[in-house]
This record gives sequence, C-alpha cells and structure tokens, in this order.
Amino acid sequence: MDNLGTDVVVAGAGPTGLMLAHELALAGVDVVVLERLPERTGLSKALNLQPRTAEILELRGLLDGAEERSFTTVQDGHFAMIPVDYHCWDTRFPFQMGIPQAQVEEYLEERLAAQGTKVVRGAEVIDFVQDKDSVSVRHRTDGGETRLRAKYLVGCDGSRSVVRKGLNVDFPGVDGQGFGVVADVLFDKIPDGAQKQWRTMRNVGEPTGATTFKGLIPLGEPGLYRFVYGDRASRPKDIRSAISHEEVRQALLDSYGETATVSEIRWASQFSDAARQAEHYRVGRVLLAGDAAHIHFPAGGQGLNLGVQDAMNLGWKLAANVRGWAGDDLLDTYEAERHPVGAQVLHNVAAQLGLTPRSHESRALRDLFADLVTLPDVNRHLGGMVSGLGIRYTTHGTSHPALGSRLNDQELATEAGPLRPSTLFHDGGFVLLTTSSAHFDAARAHARSPRLTTQLVTSPPWPSTDAVLYRPDGYASWVAPTPTPAR
Ligand SMILES: Cc1cc2nc3c(=O)[nH]c(=O)nc-3n(C[C@H](O)[C@H](O)[C@H](O)COP(=O)(O)OP(=O)(O)OC[C@H]3O[C@@H](n4cnc5c(N)ncnc54)[C@H](O)[C@@H]3O)c2cc1C
Repeated sequence: MDNLGTDVVVAGAGPTGLMLAHELALAGVDVVVLERLPERTGLSKALNLQPRTAEILELRGLLDGAEERSFTTVQDGHFAMIPVDYHCWDTRFPFQMGIPQAQVEEYLEERLAAQGTKVVRGAEVIDFVQDKDSVSVRHRTDGGETRLRAKYLVGCDGSRSVVRKGLNVDFPGVDGQGFGVVADVLFDKIPDGAQKQWRTMRNVGEPTGATTFKGLIPLGEPGLYRFVYGDRASRPKDIRSAISHEEVRQALLDSYGETATVSEIRWASQFSDAARQAEHYRVGRVLLAGDAAHIHFPAGGQGLNLGVQDAMNLGWKLAANVRGWAGDDLLDTYEAERHPVGAQVLHNVAAQLGLTPRSHESRALRDLFADLVTLPDVNRHLGGMVSGLGIRYTTHGTSHPALGSRLNDQELATEAGPLRPSTLFHDGGFVLLTTSSAHFDAARAHARSPRLTTQLVTSPPWPSTDAVLYRPDGYASWVAPTPTPAR
C-alpha cells in the first residue's frame, strides 16, 4: 500500500471522534480528524459524564483535567426522571460529573493537540471509495475538494452521518412522535423551588401532563439554567427548524408563571425522540461510532457517554490492526461488543419513554415502578445500565466471573506499597496484574500486543485469581484462577 496520506481518517470532532483520535495517537497511529465546522460552537447538548466514562478517562490520566472543567457533582443518575443511586456499585466514581459537552470537546482536543494531532477544521467529508487495501476520502475545504487516502475511515460524524449513508447500511428504528427543546436561560429571578446547585436528579425534571415534561438544571453560573421541555405526542412540522426565543419565553411562562423573570436566553434547540441503530458498525475499511451508529432520545444522559465508550473500545483494536499485531478477528469484536451495548441503551430509553404517564393506568405503572426502584437489586440493575458500569463483554468467555469484567480500580497491595491499577493504563497498553512472574509468558501470549505492562501484586487482583490480564480499555481478557488445593 503506497501513497497513503495517513493511517486513519476520523470524520467528525465531536466527543466520539476526539476520544477515538486520542486513542489512536496514543498508540502511535497517524490520524487525521476532519471536522466540517470551521470553529467550535461552544454549545452543549450533553451535560454529564457517567461513572464508567469517568473510569475510562481515569485509565488515560484524563479525569483530573475534566474535573477541573466540571461545574458540579451529581450524586445520582435517573431512569425516566426517577432517581437511581450508583453507590451500590464498586466504583471510585459513583456519581455523575456535571460538565458541558463543549468543555469535554475542548479538553479532548487540547489533549489531542498535546500528542501532536490537530483537528482539520472547515473540512467536510463528502463521500469515500474503498478497496481491499485502502479508503479514499473526498472532502471539501476553503481551498476546494481534495482526497485523502488512508487504511481506515471512521465515521464519528453524528446522527446525520454521511459516512453511514455512504456505507448503505440499514439504520432501522422509529422516527418518534414527539419533540423536546433545550434552552440555556439566565434568570433575574429563578423559579420557585428550583435547585440552586445541581446535586441530585431529584426535582430537576418531571412529567407535567399525560405526555408533556419539563426540567430545570442549574449550570453553575448564578441564575443560569438548562430549561428542557417537550411533548411526547406532538411534533413541530420541521424538527430541524430553529426554535424562537419567544416560544421558549412562552414555555417558561406556561411552566413557571410570573414567579420567574428571564434576563437572557442564550441558546435554544429542538430535538426528536427518533431511535435508530446502524445494522453494522463495520463494512470493510470503514467503521461507525457514536451518534453516527445510534441515535435516541436523551433520556438518562447516556448518548455522549456511549459514544466515548465506543471510541475507547474501538481505539486500541484499530490501532492493533494498523500497527500489524492483530487482524480482522480482533477488529470485528468492536461491532460484536458494542452493537449489543448500543441496542441495550436504545431499549432502556424506549422503556423510559414507556413510563410517560399518558393515562390513569400508565400513571399507576409509573408509581409502582418508582416504588420498585427503591429495592436495592432493581436500583443496582438500572444504575448499572445507565451508568455503563454494568457492561460485561463475553468475547473472552464467561468461565470465570472476572472475564469480560471492568477494572474497578480498587487499591492493590504491592511490595512497594498500595497501588491504584488505573495508573498503569496511561500509555494505552495491556496490563497484567499478577501475584507471580510465572504468569508472564501465558499473559503475553494471550495479549499478543507488544505493549504490555506487568505488575506484581501481593493481594489477588480479583477474588480467587492469581493473575488478571486487562485489555487497554480496562476489561479483563484472561485470568489465572487460584488453583483449588487438593484434598
Ligand atoms: C438535547 C440533547 C441533550 C443531550 N444530553 C445528553 C446528556 O446529558 N448526556 C449524554 O451523555 N448525552 C446527551 N445527549 C447526546 C449527545 O449530545 C450525543 O450523543 C453526542 O453529541 C454524540 O457525540 P458524537 O461525537 O458521536 O457526535 P456529535 O457530537 O454530533 O459530533 C459529530 C461531529 O461531526 C461533525 N460532522 C458532521 N458531519 C460531518 C462531515 N460530513 N464531515 C466532517 N465532520 C462532520 C459535526 O460538526 C460534529 O462536530 C444529548 C443530545 C441532545 C440532542
């Protein structure tokens, strides 16, 4: 293969594309990020990082920087606006970090630039052609149209992805029937009962009628709130049209009456409750991740998190393929692992929408469901789903409970003192935690990767194990169970 402009072209510099580019650059892969917008808008749809996203950022030493940009810590998650407690999970981060999407993007782009990879802005991907060795990506810039040839193209270009459309993969799902609006509003006088600081999901959103809902989330700056409202059963003629500030003012008046006074509406946008998922995430040398692969109503605060976690799953596998130490079998596990996770999110979002109190019966169902959520097992199950902590990949088998499970980053004992295992993942390689060097060779053979950090520990890395090998994204792919003593 000659005349390649780069190893991988990433289309789109949203959170998914930036996280993926970060992972590729970390592994020494040459990557070019093409972004249609000439500059960042500074606007934010998402406002939160879920616990599993915090864990993966910690694996790369990126969490502190994100924390510096966050404006609050939210002690719970929610399912259909019913609070769900994460503290029953074995994680160091049993909470949501309140952080605007624009801050996540700016920070990831900074970290990417620090690795020597810059986003090419004002570069819109138009289409592509692939053959068995490469993919040629046509894109438009100020200077006209150009082609860039690479080993792979990844479409991280959002819900209306041209990469997905170019692949002709099916995108089955539902168009939805309703709409929502988000608006960032500065109040002179905040509505009665509104939280001053976002600490819990309690009272920040609620159904207001059979199909309508509203919510008010404090954004950290005095008087500044995210106002969310909508109707699950009616839809504007054009969901993509701009929403006027007058409409938002009227909705505020309808929701909070004269008690609140508005100083400024900074930004407003409409969104839909369509839900669709690409049938395939990979066709030859072209892959999809994030909203390009799945779209859904933003219930539970999951979309950005899902995309960043797609990127973390794909990054090391694609890098392994490009660097030549693994082939198609590993790359194919990206779709095998992440498609079911995306499907599960679409499914739980549909269930959340199903809890809309449309009728006397569904109000009763919602009340009953809210009672059930107070049961520890139900709370844990739903919390695991929405937070991402419940994901376990079965690719490596299920013969031991550790296999496919995430690193929970509890401190381990070593001869040099206590160790946080997440610190060993910063370079993006595999990590072996083992009580004996006797497991080095077996782990190396399993990982196949030249990038493997071995760490001797004096406490078991997982109950009843002598060694656990973790993949670069922090899931266990091989274990040496502690032998059971002969009787
Ligand atoms: C109202 C609303 C609220 C939300 N709230 C939350 C929340 O609280 N928590 C949460 O986790 N998620 C939330 N989400 C979902 C979240 O915003 C998305 O899942 C997330 O933006 C997906 O990131 P992405 O990088 O995959 O796609 P995007 O953020 O859409 O980024 C795609 C990028 O690709 C660029 N692009 C598009 N076409 C091209 C092209 N042809 N060539 C080059 N570049 C291109 C775009 O300009 C953009 O920069 C919300 C969504 C909405 C609509």
